[in-house]
Amino acid sequence: MIEYENLQKVNEKLFDRYKDSFDTFLKSGWYILGERVSKFEDEFAHFCGANYCVGVASGLDALILAIDAFKFAKDSEIIVPSNTYIATILAIIRNGFKPVLVEPNINTYNIDVTQIEKTITKKTKAILVVHLYGKACEMDKILTIADRYNLEIIEDCAQAHGAKFKDKKVGSFGIGCFSFYPTKNLGALGDGGAITCDSVKYKDKIKSLRNYGSNKKYYNDEIGYNSRLDEIQAGFLSLKLKILKDITNHKRELASIYLKHLDKEFIMPVVDADYFDVYHIFNIRHRKRDALKKYLFDKGIKTEIHYPLAPNKQKSMQKFISGEYPISQEIHDTTLSLPISYFHTKQEIIQVVKTINGWLK
Ligand SMILES: *Cc1c(COP(=O)(O)O)cnc(C)c1O
Repeated sequence: MIEYENLQKVNEKLFDRYKDSFDTFLKSGWYILGERVSKFEDEFAHFCGANYCVGVASGLDALILAIDAFKFAKDSEIIVPSNTYIATILAIIRNGFKPVLVEPNINTYNIDVTQIEKTITKKTKAILVVHLYGKACEMDKILTIADRYNLEIIEDCAQAHGAKFKDKKVGSFGIGCFSFYPTKNLGALGDGGAITCDSVKYKDKIKSLRNYGSNKKYYNDEIGYNSRLDEIQAGFLSLKLKILKDITNHKRELASIYLKHLDKEFIMPVVDADYFDVYHIFNIRHRKRDALKKYLFDKGIKTEIHYPLAPNKQKSMQKFISGEYPISQEIHDTTLSLPISYFHTKQEIIQVVKTINGWLK
């Protein structure tokens, strides 16, 4: 059997270091906002090429706080891709703003930069891009549009730790929002998230927001949240960050096996010199996706679908989103995510390739 994911196996290499980290954490008697969080924030800001990083409780919270910190006017609109994980759009709605959906490019699965400008109105305040599956968006063109219309750029980097566009890492173009959910490339042993930015003022704002709107104990200047990265998770994340390069390289190696050997009948992720992909997810597309998924399951190979139901089709979104999004729908109907975890061996991936190619015969 080839599993899609197995977190015990992913984290196994770090067990001894995690145990030491837990031991010092336990004996320290300091559990919230201490030196482990500060240390990890410095390390992760440096990793992303951003000036600052602020740890928060989850990826969704990173998105919510990142938007809140700008204090946009009440009826503002935020542009977001029509194919993303629901969290991206929830963060806009939680702030009381209107999500304006833009279709993806069918080749990159990321926001189609040629479709952004026509959705901009006087109420548009920001473009919330998503570096889906571990591929960066076309950030040069997005920055040009943002400049022209004076819009903020917020990046959902939950699937893209270390991904690059033209040698620049995600999270360094605008406000970076990261998730450390256990299955992500940089996963903790529980929930966690972070925001990266370059402005000291913005950083201080997020630090206040995550801690009840307070910079000075028991003095609350604004309506804040309780959304902090735990000391225990920050300790684990510092250790995992040290092997993130290894994780990324391994996933890229497995991806190259798929890219080289899978039959060309399957639509595969584009490879382009401008993009350094980290393959949080390796997806293929085929119009008989469901039959292929079942066939692979029967052969002992587990796959996933990211995602089965488009955001605009979700019950919770009916009040907030209208219109049809055929390109997003096409992706949702045909995409299949193949095993590509840190613990998978090249032999296992070759076996997956052979089984998939065998399905065509
Ligand atoms: C995982 C994910 C999130 C949410 O992260 P959590 O830590 O689970 O809150 C947001 N956006 C995308 C694209 C994700 O994949």
